[in-house]
Amino acid sequence: MAEDKQIRVTIAGANGRMGQEAVKMVQGDPGLLYVGPIDTRGTDEEVKARFAQLQPDVLVDFTTPQHVYRHLQLALQLGIRPVVGTTGLTAEQIAELTEQYKTAGLGGVIAPNFAIGAILCMKFAAMAAKYMPHVEIIELHHDRKLDAPSGTAIKTAEMIAASRNTLRQGHPDEEESIAGARGADYDGFRIHSVRLPGLVAHQEVLFGATGQTLSIRHDSISRESFMPGVNMAIKAVVNLEQLVYGLEHLLD
Ligand code: NAP
Repeated sequence: MAEDKQIRVTIAGANGRMGQEAVKMVQGDPGLLYVGPIDTRGTDEEVKARFAQLQPDVLVDFTTPQHVYRHLQLALQLGIRPVVGTTGLTAEQIAELTEQYKTAGLGGVIAPNFAIGAILCMKFAAMAAKYMPHVEIIELHHDRKLDAPSGTAIKTAEMIAASRNTLRQGHPDEEESIAGARGADYDGFRIHSVRLPGLVAHQEVLFGATGQTLSIRHDSISRESFMPGVNMAIKAVVNLEQLVYGLEHLLD
Protein backbone atom coordinates (compact mmCIF):
# COMPACT_ATOMS: atom_id res chain seq x y z
CA MET A 1 0.00 0.00 0.00
CA ALA A 2 1.35 3.48 -0.91
CA GLU A 3 2.74 5.33 2.12
CA ASP A 4 0.60 8.45 1.56
CA LYS A 5 -2.74 6.65 1.03
CA GLN A 6 -5.23 6.78 3.89
CA ILE A 7 -6.13 3.36 5.30
CA ARG A 8 -9.89 2.79 5.04
CA VAL A 9 -11.19 1.42 8.35
CA THR A 10 -14.58 -0.02 9.31
CA ILE A 11 -15.44 -1.00 12.88
CA ALA A 12 -17.67 -3.86 14.07
CA GLY A 13 -19.02 -3.04 17.52
CA ALA A 14 -18.63 0.72 16.95
CA ASN A 15 -21.29 1.53 19.58
CA GLY A 16 -19.69 -0.60 22.29
CA ARG A 17 -17.29 0.55 25.02
CA MET A 18 -14.15 -0.32 23.04
CA GLY A 19 -15.70 0.48 19.66
CA GLN A 20 -16.52 4.07 20.65
CA GLU A 21 -12.90 4.68 21.69
CA ALA A 22 -11.70 3.09 18.45
CA VAL A 23 -13.96 5.35 16.33
CA LYS A 24 -12.51 8.45 18.09
CA MET A 25 -8.96 7.20 17.60
CA VAL A 26 -9.44 6.44 13.88
CA GLN A 27 -11.21 9.77 13.26
CA GLY A 28 -8.37 11.61 15.02
CA ASP A 29 -5.60 10.14 12.83
CA PRO A 30 -5.16 11.78 9.39
CA GLY A 31 -3.49 8.59 8.13
CA LEU A 32 -6.74 6.68 8.66
CA LEU A 33 -10.19 7.11 7.09
CA TYR A 34 -13.22 5.92 9.08
CA VAL A 35 -15.63 4.64 6.42
CA GLY A 36 -18.40 3.77 8.92
CA PRO A 37 -19.59 0.98 11.17
CA ILE A 38 -20.40 -2.56 10.12
CA ASP A 39 -23.07 -4.68 11.77
CA THR A 40 -22.89 -8.34 10.77
CA ARG A 41 -26.21 -9.39 12.30
CA GLY A 42 -27.68 -10.22 8.88
CA THR A 43 -27.28 -12.80 6.14
CA ASP A 44 -23.90 -13.28 4.48
CA GLU A 45 -25.29 -11.54 1.36
CA GLU A 46 -26.42 -8.48 3.33
CA VAL A 47 -23.12 -8.23 5.19
CA LYS A 48 -21.07 -8.63 2.01
CA ALA A 49 -23.17 -5.89 0.35
CA ARG A 50 -22.38 -3.54 3.26
CA PHE A 51 -18.66 -4.35 3.00
CA ALA A 52 -18.83 -3.65 -0.75
CA GLN A 53 -20.41 -0.26 0.00
CA LEU A 54 -17.78 0.68 2.62
CA GLN A 55 -14.73 -0.67 0.70
CA PRO A 56 -12.57 -1.00 3.82
CA ASP A 57 -8.91 -2.04 3.83
CA VAL A 58 -9.15 -2.99 7.52
CA LEU A 59 -11.93 -4.38 9.74
CA VAL A 60 -11.51 -3.53 13.43
CA ASP A 61 -13.52 -5.94 15.60
CA PHE A 62 -14.67 -5.21 19.15
CA THR A 63 -17.86 -7.30 19.31
CA THR A 64 -18.58 -10.54 21.17
CA PRO A 65 -17.07 -14.05 21.31
CA GLN A 66 -20.20 -15.26 19.50
CA HIS A 67 -19.50 -13.26 16.31
CA VAL A 68 -15.76 -12.88 16.03
CA TYR A 69 -15.02 -16.21 14.30
CA ARG A 70 -17.52 -15.45 11.52
CA HIS A 71 -15.99 -11.98 11.11
CA LEU A 72 -12.55 -13.50 10.55
CA GLN A 73 -14.01 -15.93 7.98
CA LEU A 74 -15.85 -13.14 6.16
CA ALA A 75 -12.76 -10.89 6.13
CA LEU A 76 -10.74 -13.75 4.63
CA GLN A 77 -13.32 -14.34 1.88
CA LEU A 78 -13.39 -10.61 1.03
CA GLY A 79 -9.63 -9.91 1.33
CA ILE A 80 -10.16 -7.38 4.15
CA ARG A 81 -7.48 -7.29 6.82
CA PRO A 82 -8.85 -7.85 10.33
CA VAL A 83 -7.59 -6.21 13.54
CA VAL A 84 -9.36 -8.19 16.24
CA GLY A 85 -9.61 -7.19 19.88
CA THR A 86 -12.62 -9.37 20.66
CA THR A 87 -11.64 -12.19 22.98
CA GLY A 88 -13.05 -15.69 23.35
CA LEU A 89 -11.63 -17.43 20.25
CA THR A 90 -10.44 -20.95 21.09
CA ALA A 91 -6.85 -22.09 20.52
CA GLU A 92 -8.18 -24.46 17.82
CA GLN A 93 -9.98 -21.62 16.00
CA ILE A 94 -6.85 -19.43 16.12
CA ALA A 95 -4.68 -22.28 14.77
CA GLU A 96 -7.18 -23.00 11.96
CA LEU A 97 -7.51 -19.32 10.99
CA THR A 98 -3.73 -18.84 11.06
CA GLU A 99 -3.36 -21.66 8.53
CA GLN A 100 -6.14 -20.26 6.30
CA TYR A 101 -4.73 -16.72 6.31
CA LYS A 102 -1.24 -18.04 5.57
CA THR A 103 -2.54 -19.98 2.57
CA ALA A 104 -4.34 -16.86 1.31
CA GLY A 105 -1.30 -14.62 2.06
CA LEU A 106 -3.60 -12.18 3.88
CA GLY A 107 -2.50 -10.11 6.88
CA GLY A 108 -4.43 -9.97 10.15
CA VAL A 109 -3.89 -9.24 13.83
CA ILE A 110 -5.63 -10.87 16.80
CA ALA A 111 -4.59 -9.23 20.06
CA PRO A 112 -6.23 -10.22 23.34
CA ASN A 113 -4.78 -7.03 24.80
CA PHE A 114 -3.72 -3.87 22.94
CA ALA A 115 -2.21 -2.12 25.99
CA ILE A 116 1.58 -1.96 25.89
CA GLY A 117 1.78 -2.38 29.68
CA ALA A 118 -0.21 -5.61 29.48
CA ILE A 119 2.18 -6.95 26.81
CA LEU A 120 5.10 -6.12 29.10
CA CYS A 121 3.28 -7.82 32.00
CA MET A 122 3.02 -11.01 29.90
CA LYS A 123 6.65 -10.85 28.80
CA PHE A 124 7.96 -10.21 32.33
CA ALA A 125 5.78 -13.04 33.65
CA ALA A 126 7.18 -15.45 31.04
CA MET A 127 10.73 -14.39 32.00
CA ALA A 128 10.04 -14.88 35.71
CA ALA A 129 8.35 -18.28 35.26
CA LYS A 130 11.60 -19.76 34.00
CA TYR A 131 13.19 -19.12 37.40
CA MET A 132 10.10 -19.12 39.66
CA PRO A 133 7.79 -21.86 38.30
CA HIS A 134 5.21 -21.60 41.13
CA VAL A 135 2.75 -19.09 39.68
CA GLU A 136 -0.91 -18.09 39.75
CA ILE A 137 -2.71 -15.58 37.52
CA ILE A 138 -5.46 -13.35 38.85
CA GLU A 139 -7.32 -11.37 36.20
CA LEU A 140 -9.91 -8.74 37.17
CA HIS A 141 -12.49 -7.17 34.82
CA HIS A 142 -15.76 -5.24 34.79
CA ASP A 143 -18.88 -7.37 35.27
CA ARG A 144 -20.18 -6.93 31.68
CA LYS A 145 -17.41 -9.15 30.34
CA LEU A 146 -18.75 -12.32 28.65
CA ASP A 147 -15.74 -14.64 28.58
CA ALA A 148 -13.63 -16.08 31.38
CA PRO A 149 -10.77 -16.34 31.82
CA SER A 150 -9.80 -13.23 29.86
CA GLY A 151 -8.00 -13.55 26.54
CA THR A 152 -5.08 -11.76 28.18
CA ALA A 153 -4.89 -14.37 30.96
CA ILE A 154 -4.97 -17.19 28.40
CA LYS A 155 -2.20 -15.57 26.36
CA THR A 156 -0.18 -14.95 29.55
CA ALA A 157 -0.68 -18.59 30.57
CA GLU A 158 0.49 -19.78 27.14
CA MET A 159 3.61 -17.62 27.35
CA ILE A 160 4.34 -18.79 30.91
CA ALA A 161 3.83 -22.44 29.94
CA ALA A 162 6.30 -22.03 27.06
CA SER A 163 9.11 -20.91 29.40
CA ARG A 164 8.25 -22.83 32.62
CA ASN A 165 9.07 -26.45 33.37
CA THR A 166 5.69 -28.16 33.74
CA LEU A 167 4.83 -28.66 37.38
CA ARG A 168 1.60 -29.47 39.19
CA GLN A 169 1.36 -26.91 41.97
CA GLY A 170 -0.29 -27.07 45.37
CA HIS A 171 -0.59 -29.96 47.81
CA PRO A 172 -1.00 -33.30 45.98
CA ASP A 173 -3.97 -34.09 48.26
CA GLU A 174 -5.66 -30.67 48.16
CA GLU A 175 -9.47 -30.73 47.89
CA GLU A 176 -12.03 -28.03 47.12
CA SER A 177 -14.89 -27.91 49.62
CA ILE A 178 -16.54 -25.39 47.25
CA ALA A 179 -16.08 -26.26 43.54
CA GLY A 180 -13.88 -23.78 41.69
CA ALA A 181 -12.19 -22.43 44.84
CA ARG A 182 -8.73 -23.06 43.42
CA GLY A 183 -9.49 -21.49 40.04
CA ALA A 184 -9.01 -22.98 36.57
CA ASP A 185 -6.11 -25.34 35.94
CA TYR A 186 -3.76 -24.49 33.07
CA ASP A 187 -0.74 -26.75 32.64
CA GLY A 188 -0.56 -27.34 36.41
CA PHE A 189 -1.04 -23.73 37.56
CA ARG A 190 -4.18 -21.73 38.35
CA ILE A 191 -6.07 -18.84 36.75
CA HIS A 192 -8.63 -16.86 38.80
CA SER A 193 -11.22 -14.52 37.26
CA VAL A 194 -12.70 -11.63 39.27
CA ARG A 195 -15.74 -9.70 37.89
CA LEU A 196 -16.84 -6.45 39.57
CA PRO A 197 -18.42 -3.16 38.53
CA GLY A 198 -15.87 -0.34 38.69
CA LEU A 199 -13.06 -2.42 37.24
CA VAL A 200 -11.78 -1.99 33.66
CA ALA A 201 -9.05 -4.59 32.85
CA HIS A 202 -6.41 -5.68 35.35
CA GLN A 203 -4.07 -8.61 35.81
CA GLU A 204 -1.69 -9.72 38.54
CA VAL A 205 0.75 -12.59 38.09
CA LEU A 206 1.96 -13.91 41.44
CA PHE A 207 5.09 -16.02 41.88
CA GLY A 208 6.19 -17.82 45.02
CA ALA A 209 9.50 -19.43 46.00
CA THR A 210 11.10 -20.30 49.33
CA GLY A 211 11.02 -17.17 51.49
CA GLN A 212 9.97 -14.79 48.71
CA THR A 213 7.14 -13.73 46.41
CA LEU A 214 7.05 -11.64 43.24
CA SER A 215 4.00 -9.78 41.89
CA ILE A 216 3.74 -8.41 38.36
CA ARG A 217 0.65 -6.27 37.91
CA HIS A 218 -0.90 -4.28 35.10
CA ASP A 219 -3.97 -2.01 35.31
CA SER A 220 -5.86 -0.51 32.39
CA ILE A 221 -7.74 2.27 34.16
CA SER A 222 -9.32 3.63 30.97
CA ARG A 223 -10.09 2.16 27.54
CA GLU A 224 -7.88 4.82 25.93
CA SER A 225 -4.96 2.66 27.10
CA PHE A 226 -5.72 0.21 24.27
CA MET A 227 -5.84 2.74 21.42
CA PRO A 228 -2.12 3.25 20.60
CA GLY A 229 -1.93 -0.54 20.17
CA VAL A 230 -5.02 -0.65 17.94
CA ASN A 231 -3.55 2.20 15.86
CA MET A 232 -0.24 0.36 15.54
CA ALA A 233 -2.00 -2.84 14.47
CA ILE A 234 -4.09 -1.07 11.79
CA LYS A 235 -0.93 0.42 10.27
CA ALA A 236 1.01 -2.86 10.52
CA VAL A 237 -1.68 -5.16 9.17
CA VAL A 238 -1.73 -3.62 5.70
CA ASN A 239 1.84 -4.85 5.20
CA LEU A 240 1.40 -8.31 6.75
CA GLU A 241 0.88 -11.50 4.77
CA GLN A 242 -0.20 -13.70 7.66
CA LEU A 243 -2.34 -13.68 10.78
CA VAL A 244 -0.46 -12.60 13.90
CA TYR A 245 -1.73 -13.56 17.39
CA GLY A 246 -0.48 -11.10 20.03
CA LEU A 247 0.63 -7.47 19.80
CA GLU A 248 4.09 -8.45 21.06
CA HIS A 249 4.87 -9.76 17.55
CA LEU A 250 4.53 -6.22 16.18
CA LEU A 251 6.93 -4.68 18.73
CA ASP A 252 10.70 -4.48 18.09
P1 NAP B 1 -19.49 -4.02 24.49
O1 NAP B 1 -19.47 -2.68 25.12
O2 NAP B 1 -20.55 -5.00 24.89
O3 NAP B 1 -19.55 -3.80 22.91
C1 NAP B 1 -19.79 -4.82 21.99
C2 NAP B 1 -20.54 -4.18 20.85
O4 NAP B 1 -20.60 -5.10 19.77
C3 NAP B 1 -21.99 -3.78 21.19
O5 NAP B 1 -22.17 -2.43 20.82
C4 NAP B 1 -22.81 -4.72 20.31
O6 NAP B 1 -23.98 -4.09 19.86
C5 NAP B 1 -21.87 -4.93 19.15
N1 NAP B 1 -22.10 -6.14 18.37
C6 NAP B 1 -22.44 -7.37 18.82
N2 NAP B 1 -22.52 -8.21 17.77
C7 NAP B 1 -22.22 -7.51 16.66
C8 NAP B 1 -22.13 -7.82 15.28
N3 NAP B 1 -22.33 -9.06 14.85
N4 NAP B 1 -21.81 -6.83 14.43
C9 NAP B 1 -21.58 -5.59 14.85
N5 NAP B 1 -21.64 -5.22 16.14
C10 NAP B 1 -21.96 -6.18 17.02
O7 NAP B 1 -18.11 -4.77 24.72
P2 NAP B 1 -16.65 -4.12 24.92
O8 NAP B 1 -16.39 -3.90 26.36
O9 NAP B 1 -16.46 -2.99 23.96
O10 NAP B 1 -15.73 -5.35 24.50
C11 NAP B 1 -15.80 -5.87 23.20
C12 NAP B 1 -14.78 -7.02 23.09
O11 NAP B 1 -13.45 -6.48 23.19
C13 NAP B 1 -14.88 -8.09 24.17
O12 NAP B 1 -14.64 -9.36 23.61
C14 NAP B 1 -13.75 -7.73 25.13
O13 NAP B 1 -13.26 -8.84 25.85
C15 NAP B 1 -12.72 -7.20 24.16
N6 NAP B 1 -11.70 -6.32 24.71
C16 NAP B 1 -10.48 -6.42 24.13
C17 NAP B 1 -9.46 -5.60 24.53
C18 NAP B 1 -8.12 -5.70 23.85
O14 NAP B 1 -7.21 -4.94 24.17
N7 NAP B 1 -7.97 -6.63 22.91
C19 NAP B 1 -9.68 -4.65 25.55
C20 NAP B 1 -10.94 -4.56 26.11
C21 NAP B 1 -11.95 -5.40 25.67
P3 NAP B 1 -25.35 -4.16 20.72
O15 NAP B 1 -25.09 -3.41 21.98
O16 NAP B 1 -26.33 -3.52 19.81
O17 NAP B 1 -25.62 -5.63 20.95
